[in-house]
Amino acid sequence: MKNKLTHPVFRLISDIAEEKGLTCFVIGGFVRDLILRRPSKDIDIVVLGSGIDLAENVASRLGKVQVSIFKNFGTAMLRYKDYEIEFVGARKESYRRNSRKPIVENGTLEDDMKRRDFTMNTLALSLNKSSFGELADPFGGLNDLKNKVIRTPLDPDTTYSDDPLRMMRAIRFAAELNFTIDKVSLKSITKNKERITIVSQERIMEELNRIIAAPKPSSGFKLLEKTGLLSSVLPEIQNLKGVEKKNGQAHKDNFYHTIKVLDNVAKKSNNLWLRWSALLHDVAKPATKKFEPGTGWSFHGHEYLGAKMIPGIFRRLKLPLGNSMKYVQKLVKLHLRPIVLSRDEVTDSAVRRLLFDAGDDIDDLMLLCEADITSKNDTRVKQYMSNFKLVRKKLKEIEEKDAIRNFQPPISGELIMETFHIDPCRKVGIIKNAIKEAILEGEIHNNYEEAYDYMIKKAEELGLEKEKNNLPRS
Ligand code: ATP
Repeated sequence: MKNKLTHPVFRLISDIAEEKGLTCFVIGGFVRDLILRRPSKDIDIVVLGSGIDLAENVASRLGKVQVSIFKNFGTAMLRYKDYEIEFVGARKESYRRNSRKPIVENGTLEDDMKRRDFTMNTLALSLNKSSFGELADPFGGLNDLKNKVIRTPLDPDTTYSDDPLRMMRAIRFAAELNFTIDKVSLKSITKNKERITIVSQERIMEELNRIIAAPKPSSGFKLLEKTGLLSSVLPEIQNLKGVEKKNGQAHKDNFYHTIKVLDNVAKKSNNLWLRWSALLHDVAKPATKKFEPGTGWSFHGHEYLGAKMIPGIFRRLKLPLGNSMKYVQKLVKLHLRPIVLSRDEVTDSAVRRLLFDAGDDIDDLMLLCEADITSKNDTRVKQYMSNFKLVRKKLKEIEEKDAIRNFQPPISGELIMETFHIDPCRKVGIIKNAIKEAILEGEIHNNYEEAYDYMIKKAEELGLEKEKNNLPRS
């Protein structure tokens, strides 16, 4: 491992440690990622002694480097080029039952490793001259890394119960790295699942978002479901699970469908909120489910109810309530539109309406709709896909012709009031809306002249007359 620590900063730390007679190591995620050949900019240095002293010495040798000191935690952090280097004294932790906050004392390297979550995160490389780059691995982390196994350094019940966030981290690492969670660990997560309630919502969401951002998020969701964590973290998604049968007719399992849609989207886009839209697109299916003997299972209106449920879900999860939420709401609400469109004859006006409602998010919406086709019936899939192709072609043609995507009304309310010399009133809204409808229906084109003439016509129908000297026609 010697030749791996090539960055000059490691030699510098090594020199200073030697001068000061300190023993120190690079530890944790940086070492793990070095072995996995994943780039990492966060370096953790553990010192048998004071991390703060070593950090201050390193900083003064580097010159012009600011050290942030966290006295209470006994840690110090400095930024060097694009690296973030954290120094901490080796410590021993013990936990009380109802808090993630441990009681901390000084400890040995092994004590420090034991307080870490997984064996692959305990790996440490020596920074002292005589053993520079040598691996310290008392818990078999290297082997686990090679076998792609997530295992805890202590009895998993202790590790998970001490800090239940580690249960989410285990699943996040499994999804991110495509690793498996050791059987005993998995059992222990299931046993300790209720303890997740002592973890803050923000921390849970950090891990959940990373599961959603993983290359194949379904693997994380299957683990969340299997261990029972999903019921606490996202009960709405847990509720999607299961198949009901009546008169010999079964509906599909909407949990497995949903995570398949999420995987499909993940193959095409890294947009976290598009992935959230995939996760939540059918969230109202349980609430709208109906069986009628003639027609079978239906979920009428689940897209509208789903969109209504989004703010409540976002608020509870402490997700941002601004534009990202509105975007998810919009996509959930519109997720059936392209498919309905592709089933019927694809008329220009229906395409224009879809463009108007989706605006700039039309491409993401189309992506979600294509991802939503998870049927095992190949003929049906082919049929949908070819219909979607047609919808996409039409969308392009109509957008080029009519520029509906970022629709701005060609006639403003002010112009209507000026032209007919009226104060703000219902009639202004009626005229504006009639113009928009005429454009969407294709009766007139999306331009000022045609819209102006249409305004005059509509106003006449409403008994309004144009002011004689008021003709701003340009
Ligand atoms: P990534 O760089 O992908 O975020 P990471 O989660 O390992 O990986 P950090 O969160 O910075 O990165 O954690 C750094 C190290 O601290 C980990 O490798 C692990 O040794 C330890 N660690 C972090 N969180 C915990 C925890 N909740 N319990 C125990 N050890 C932890």
